[in-house]
Amino acid sequence: MRSILLLLSLFITTFLNAQDIPIIPKPVSVTVNKGLFTITPSTQIKLEGSGLEHTADFFNSYLKKFYGFTLAVTSESPKKNVIILNYERMDYPIAGAYRMEVTGKSVYIAGDNAEAVFYGIQSLIQLLPVQVSQSLAVQQLKIEDHPRFQYRGLHLDAGRHFFDIDFVKQYIDFIALHKMNYFHWHLTEDQGWRIEIKKYPLLTQVGSCRERTVIGHNTQNYDSTRYCGYYTQEQIKEVVKYAADRYITIIPEIELPGHSSAALTAYPYLGCTGGPYQVAEKWGVFKDIFCAGNDSTFQFLQDVLDEVIALFPSKYIHIGGDESPKDRWKQCPKCQQRIKDNHLKDEHELQSYFIQRIEKYLNSKGRAIIGWDEILEGGLAPNATVMSWRGEQGGIDAAKQNHDVIMTPGQYVYFDHAQKKNDDSLTIGGFLPLDKVYNYEPIPAALNTDQGKHVLGAQANVWTEYMANVPKVEYMIFPRLTALSEVLWSSKENRNWNDFVKRLQTQYKRYDLWKVNYFKEPLQ
Ligand SMILES: [Zn+2]
Repeated sequence: MRSILLLLSLFITTFLNAQDIPIIPKPVSVTVNKGLFTITPSTQIKLEGSGLEHTADFFNSYLKKFYGFTLAVTSESPKKNVIILNYERMDYPIAGAYRMEVTGKSVYIAGDNAEAVFYGIQSLIQLLPVQVSQSLAVQQLKIEDHPRFQYRGLHLDAGRHFFDIDFVKQYIDFIALHKMNYFHWHLTEDQGWRIEIKKYPLLTQVGSCRERTVIGHNTQNYDSTRYCGYYTQEQIKEVVKYAADRYITIIPEIELPGHSSAALTAYPYLGCTGGPYQVAEKWGVFKDIFCAGNDSTFQFLQDVLDEVIALFPSKYIHIGGDESPKDRWKQCPKCQQRIKDNHLKDEHELQSYFIQRIEKYLNSKGRAIIGWDEILEGGLAPNATVMSWRGEQGGIDAAKQNHDVIMTPGQYVYFDHAQKKNDDSLTIGGFLPLDKVYNYEPIPAALNTDQGKHVLGAQANVWTEYMANVPKVEYMIFPRLTALSEVLWSSKENRNWNDFVKRLQTQYKRYDLWKVNYFKEPLQ
C-alpha cells in the first residue's frame, strides 16, 4: 500500500508544472522541483532575524484555525523539518520582494523586510492542501516574487451598515491573505457616525443610531428597527494593531463636507440652517452638509481629526469630498460671506477652500489627505492624493497635474455592483463580472510613462447599502477580491485569464476551508 502511495505521489509531482501551482496572485516566477515537503506538528519554525515574530504568529494562527495544530518556534538550527524565515536584500524598488525555496528538508523564505517575508508566508499558505489534515504536503519549488503596485487596497463602508470588530479583523485577514496592504475604513456617513470622539460624545450617542431603515431601493417602506453601532477608541486601537501585525495600513475616512447628516443631527450648529436634522434612514445624497462659512465647523473638524490622527498612524487620512450638493451653501449668508471674503468664484471654489483648509491642518500635523475625485472641483489641494471613482478621468486629470492617484473606478472595482446579469440578490445595480475585474489595467492608457508613475495602485470599494450582514459582504467580495489581488500584485505580462480560472478552482476550495460565503458560476 505504502509503495503504491509513493508511486502515486511521484506520478503526481512529475506532472506538476509551474502552471499548476495554485498561488494567487501569480508570482513573478515559479520553478517546480520533484518531491514534497511535509508540514506536521513536529515541524519547527526558525527565525533568522528580529521582527519576524508576527509572521510566525500569523502562520501558526492560520494552521490552528484551519488544521488544528501549531508549530514551535525554535532558537536551535534544525537541519531538517524546519521552516526558516530570513532577511535577504532583493534590490526591488517596491517593498515586498521575497524568495522561497521548498526542498525535502526545509522551507526557506527570505524577504527584503518583514513585510516581504509575510508575503512569502502567504504563498506558503496557498501551497497547503485544502483538506484538513495534520500532514500537509507542500510541493518542492523555487519562487521569486515581488509586487507590481505599492498600493493594494480594499475598502469597507461601516456607515450604511455596521460591522463589529470581530468581522473587521477577519476582513483584515482576507486582505492579508491576498498580499494586499491597505484597508480603507469608511467611518462616517449620513446613516451613522461610527467612531467614538471623546470631545464630541453626541456624535456616537446621537449620530450612531437611525430610527429605521428603508427597505429595498429607496421604496416608501421602512423597517421598524432602530439601527445603531460604533467603534470605541479602545476597539480602534486594537484593530489598528491587528492590521499593523499583518503589514496593513488602515486609512480612516471622515467624510466632509458632505455625507454628514449624522454629525449634523448630533451638533446642528455645524449645518447652514441649524436644523433640526435627522440621521438618514434611506440611501442617497443629502443636501444638508457642513457649513463652510462657520469657523466653528472647522474647529469641530480639527478637533475630530486630532483624535483620529492619534488613533491611526497612517500617513494618509481620507477626507471624503464627494457628493456634496451646493444648495445650502448658495442660500447661506455665512457661506456667501466666505466666498466674498476669499474672492472665490462660486460654491465649487468654496468646496476647494474647504478641502484646502483641512489639508493645511492635516499637513501641519505631518499627515496627507486623500479625497474622492470631486476634490478636483474648483482646484486641487496642493498635496492631495486623489481616489478616482467616477471612472478613470479624475485619476487621469490628477496624474497630469502631478498628483498621486489611487484608482477605484466604479465600472471595474465597485464590489457593490452585481456579479451576474439579472442578479436576484439585492444590490445597488450595475454589472461587474469577475473577468472584468481581472482584466482591469490600473494605469490608464491616456497617461504617459511619467504620469503613470503617479498611479500608486488601486482599490476595490465595498459600499454597504445593500450588504446588511457578513455573509452578504463575503458573497460580494469573493472571488472578485482574489481577481483584484492579481491585478495589483502580478506583472501585466504574467496575467492570464484561463490560467487564473484554473488556479481559482483551488481557491474556491480554500474559501470552503475558511467557511466563507462566495459567488460561483461556471467560468472559462
Ligand atoms: Zn453655510
